[in-house]
Amino acid sequence: MPIQILSDQIIGQIAAGEVVERPASVVKELLENALDAGASNIHISVNGGGRKLIRISDNGTGIRADEVKLAFTRHATSKLHTIDDLYTLVTLGFRGEALASIASVSRTSVTTRHHQEEMGTQLHIEGGEIIRQQATGAPSGTVIAVENLFFNTPARLKFMKKETTEKRHISSIVTHYAMAYPEVRFTLEQDGRESFRSNGSGALIDVLVQAMGLDNVRQMIEVTANEFSHRDQPPATVSGYISTPEYHRSDRNSITLFVNGRWIQDSRLTYAITQAYHGYLNDGRYPVAVLMLDVPTQEVDVNVHPTKAEVRFRDASGVFSAVQRAVRQAVLAADQQARQHQAIDDGFGGVPVRRGADQWHENNPDTQLDMGLQVDAVTNHPQSYSAYSDDPTAIPEGPGRPLKPRTLPMLRVVGQVGAMYIVAEGPAGMYLIDQHTAHTRVLYESLLEAYQQGQAVVQHTLSGISVDLKPTEMRSLEDHAALLHQLGIELEKFGPGTMLLRALPAMVIQMVIQNEGQAVHLLRSITEKLSQKDHLEQVVHCLSTFAAYKTGQILSHDEMQGLIRELERCAEPRTSPDGRPTLLHMSSDQLARQFGKA
Ligand code: ADP
Ligand code: MG
Repeated sequence: MPIQILSDQIIGQIAAGEVVERPASVVKELLENALDAGASNIHISVNGGGRKLIRISDNGTGIRADEVKLAFTRHATSKLHTIDDLYTLVTLGFRGEALASIASVSRTSVTTRHHQEEMGTQLHIEGGEIIRQQATGAPSGTVIAVENLFFNTPARLKFMKKETTEKRHISSIVTHYAMAYPEVRFTLEQDGRESFRSNGSGALIDVLVQAMGLDNVRQMIEVTANEFSHRDQPPATVSGYISTPEYHRSDRNSITLFVNGRWIQDSRLTYAITQAYHGYLNDGRYPVAVLMLDVPTQEVDVNVHPTKAEVRFRDASGVFSAVQRAVRQAVLAADQQARQHQAIDDGFGGVPVRRGADQWHENNPDTQLDMGLQVDAVTNHPQSYSAYSDDPTAIPEGPGRPLKPRTLPMLRVVGQVGAMYIVAEGPAGMYLIDQHTAHTRVLYESLLEAYQQGQAVVQHTLSGISVDLKPTEMRSLEDHAALLHQLGIELEKFGPGTMLLRALPAMVIQMVIQNEGQAVHLLRSITEKLSQKDHLEQVVHCLSTFAAYKTGQILSHDEMQGLIRELERCAEPRTSPDGRPTLLHMSSDQLARQFGKA
């Protein structure tokens, strides 16, 4: 092909590809324009997942008659005039590309009346070509209708996802903007059915109830605006809602971030939030969060990405730690409160945590929750949770297997001392934990429980391990074969003085396979215990001691945190099965006294 300069129309279509990737991008751009125009009421109506029609009406300022055409010209904007304006920007838009891009790949019409003008204007554009413009009577505000999206870009059309996918993306965009602008009333109608509505009350919690359902909001806690200031700049704030540690999901998609009212993607901040749950969530589990960051405009660069979905912070690590700190504080406070609810005394008076639902109730005192009146209307909402995940079948995940009640506060591992003790901190002070006795306690309770439920986790040895024993020992083992079997120990008589060890509880097998000599030692100790009165507990204790971390063993951070997480829910976390202490606790008060601070 010879070299040719592309026509304006093709340039427009190519450029449009950056801004308008899918129907939801059109919704996003038009919503941003309506918000920038100061609308307090925005109605979105979509047909066919946005392919057939996207119509957005707002009651904002409207566009002056003599500027309507210009608004659809590429790089035409009223929001920025010099490059410095970028750093004092208070609008969502600034590139002047959206309307031109959208109009170049669809049939678009606009009806608008500027609030200071008498007459409105109507303009029709097809594939970027102006078809007609006329004066018209119209309420103050703007209605933009986008039909047959991508009708003239067949390649883009081919990449379109299923209608349901597009619908989900659209509803996600709308609910997210509604969260960022709780003072604006949003209504979304898809194929003639209202699927989302916010009431414009100004309270984020009201929007969350509409978007997530009250049941999920019950599990959210408030992050109150935490002032942080850095480098002598005016303070910025972090606020919003995060899930309690009991409410988590399998991906990061439910972590939502807004910076100065702009919905952004930021993997570092997402990580900061996830990190703040350290010690509270298992690997591979992620919290639900809706966080608003307000940062001085000169501290953020919004001009990083054509869809404006990413920003750059001047002090990225300052923002990172501010977010992490704010979330961590809320998680710790929620944990404290949860413990107080369980009436487990750790001598600590806590900070009250505002649960999402509590707060919603304060605002909606008339609502009869327990009678399910409003609740049903909200939670059975067809779009209820769709905004939160790409997986249409995804249902919000509540607590997984029922956890045993917590008996210790949530502790965070600080480190290991002398390959013997774990230092941990909790809201009530410092804990020194003996890794061996504590682990013995954890294994003891879990094996005993597994035994009682007939669910011991058993592991078979490949060809059996032969163990030579005395006749009395042989007999004792044979006599208790049933009990041993239920604990996961399977033995087979192999000769007059030999037992073949076929299987062992999973927790001890590794040690025995690594060193077969251990098998004799273990079986001998077990036979000894079998002759005692409370022989079940004795045998379980023996197995647990055998499997527990040894004094002198260096543990990884995850091993320590894992151990402590289990210990926190043991029935008797403070002693080993034979009554020795597993932990020493120094309360914050005691520490202060010791250091002469109280
Ligand atoms: P940008 O938002 O980046 O300025 P757009 O192409 O989205 O670029 O819009 C171009 C201009 O059209 C805006 O700067 C604004 O002046 C005007 N405009 C667009 N939508 C609306 C609306 N809903 N209400 C009032 N003015 C609007
Ligand atoms: Mg715009």
